[in-house]
Amino acid sequence: MFRLRREVYLDNNATTPVSAHVRKRMNQVLRRYYGNPSSLYRAARDSAIILEDSRETVARSIGAEPGEIVFTGSATEANNTALAAAFEDAFPRRKKIVSTPIEHASVLSTLEYLKSRGAEIVFCPVDRKGRLDLAALEEAVDENTLLVCTMLANNEIGTVQDVAAIARIAHQPGALMLADCVQALAKIPVDVGELGVDYASFSAHKIHGPKGVGCLYARTGSPLTPFIHGGHQETGLRAGTESLHNIAGFAAACEQIDSALERAAEVGRLKRQLAERLRAAEPEIVVSSPREGCLPNTLNVVFPGTNNALLMAGLDDQGISVSAGSACDTQEDAPSHVLEAIGLSDEQARQTLRISLSTDTSERDVAYAGRAFCDLLSGKADTINVLTPAQVGEKILFDDRTYILDVRWALERKLMKGLPNSHEIVFLKARKYFSQIPRDRNILVVCQSGPNAPFVAYQLRSRGFRNVSFLLTGVTGWRLARPDLFEKYAGQNVTALELA
Ligand code: PLP
Repeated sequence: MFRLRREVYLDNNATTPVSAHVRKRMNQVLRRYYGNPSSLYRAARDSAIILEDSRETVARSIGAEPGEIVFTGSATEANNTALAAAFEDAFPRRKKIVSTPIEHASVLSTLEYLKSRGAEIVFCPVDRKGRLDLAALEEAVDENTLLVCTMLANNEIGTVQDVAAIARIAHQPGALMLADCVQALAKIPVDVGELGVDYASFSAHKIHGPKGVGCLYARTGSPLTPFIHGGHQETGLRAGTESLHNIAGFAAACEQIDSALERAAEVGRLKRQLAERLRAAEPEIVVSSPREGCLPNTLNVVFPGTNNALLMAGLDDQGISVSAGSACDTQEDAPSHVLEAIGLSDEQARQTLRISLSTDTSERDVAYAGRAFCDLLSGKADTINVLTPAQVGEKILFDDRTYILDVRWALERKLMKGLPNSHEIVFLKARKYFSQIPRDRNILVVCQSGPNAPFVAYQLRSRGFRNVSFLLTGVTGWRLARPDLFEKYAGQNVTALELA
C-alpha cells in the first residue's frame, strides 16, 4: 500500500529540536551582542545585561533566585560540579553518598571517580517501575552521609521520584541533596524550593533550547567550589567566557515552559494512544514505564520476540526516530543499566525501545508511527533478513554469491579482526559506497555488535538491493558463537573500499 512518508521524531528524551522562538533569540544575540560580558565598555555591558536577564528568567522558571544559578556547558558539567563540591566540602568528616542505580552516566561515572578518592557509595534499590525504596533510603542515610543524589525523572523509563520526600530524608542527619532535573523540566512542574533540594541540574537542549548549555542551581549557602578553573566568570564559580547566545537561547526556552506544561496532558493522551496502538499490533508488549508517576511523554516498551536494533532501523527506514532501551546506540553492547536495575533480563533489554514525545508531536504523527509499528510487528513491512552468528559458517563466508560489508568504526577494526572476505566502508558515509557494491550478490552487513548494520541494510534495501541480510550481534557475537572460525579466518582477505 502506498503511504506518504513522514518524518516523525520520537526521541525527545535524547534531545529536542530548537524552537522557532529560541532560534530567533539566539540569532538576535549572535548578530548584535558580541561584547564580552566581563569587559566594561558599552558593547560589553549590553552583553552583560543579556546574561543577567537570562539568569533571572532561568531562575524564575524553576523557583530560584538569580544568584543561585551558575551557567554551565551542560547538565553533565552541572552534576559533576555539584557532586565534587559537596564531596570537597564534607570529606573526610562525612564519607557516604547515597544514590540510585538508575542515574544518568554523568552522575554514575562521577560517583565512581569519587569512590576512587575515598567516598563510600551506596545505591538504594528501585522497584520494577524504577521507584526508589524510601524505607531503604532512610536506612542508608546516616550521620556519615554527605549527599543524597537522585533524578527527579528518569530518562529511559520516565519514572518520577518523590524528591521532596527524599530531600527530607537526606536533611535529617544533615546530608545535602542533589536532584537531576534534566528530564523533568517543561514536562512536569519543577520548583526547587518546593522540592527542598540543595542542588539541581538542568539542560537547555532537552527543552527545545540549544545544545552545549545547562545550569546548576545551588541553593544560597550550599557549598560550591569551581569545577573549571580560570577566569572569574560566574562569580568565580565557572571559568570561561560565557556562551551568550546559548545562555540567551536557554532563557528563551525557559520562557516556553508554562505553555509546554499546559500541553502536557495532551502529550500524555497521545502517548497513551500510541501505547494502545502498539498493544493492538502486539498484545504481548510489556510497558516498563509506570502508569502513574511518569513523565507524560515517555514510553518504554519491551517487544517480545523482536530485536530492538532491527526494529529501530525498520522505523528509521519509514522516517521514525526512536531509541533503543539498551545502550546499543552508544556503540557499547551492554544492556541499559536502568533496565537491568528494574529487573529486565538481558533479552528483554535487547527487545526494548524508548519512545519519547514532545509538545511538537501531533495526532497524525502518532497515527503514522502506530501504523509503521503495526506493519513491522505483523511482518507486513518489507524487512531485511537476519542471520544469527551460528548460521555464518564456511559456506556463507566463502560463497561467491555472498558480499560481506563491514560497517564497523575504525577503532573497532583495530581492536578486533573482522569476517574474512569482507569489504570495509565508513558507516556514516555508507550511501557514498553503494555504487561499488554488486547488485547481483547477497549482501551481508556486519557491524561490531549489532546496532549499526541494520541501518545500512535498510539503506541498501531502499536503493533497490534485493538480497540484504545483517548479522545479529555482529563480529562480537560471531566470535563468541564460532571461535574456531574466528581463529582460523578472521581478518583474511579484507578490502577497504575507497570513497567513490
Ligand atoms: N541527566 C539526565 C537525566 C539526562 O537525561 C541527561 C542527558 O541525556 C543528562 C543528565 C546530561 O545532560 P547534557 O546532555 O546537558 O550533558
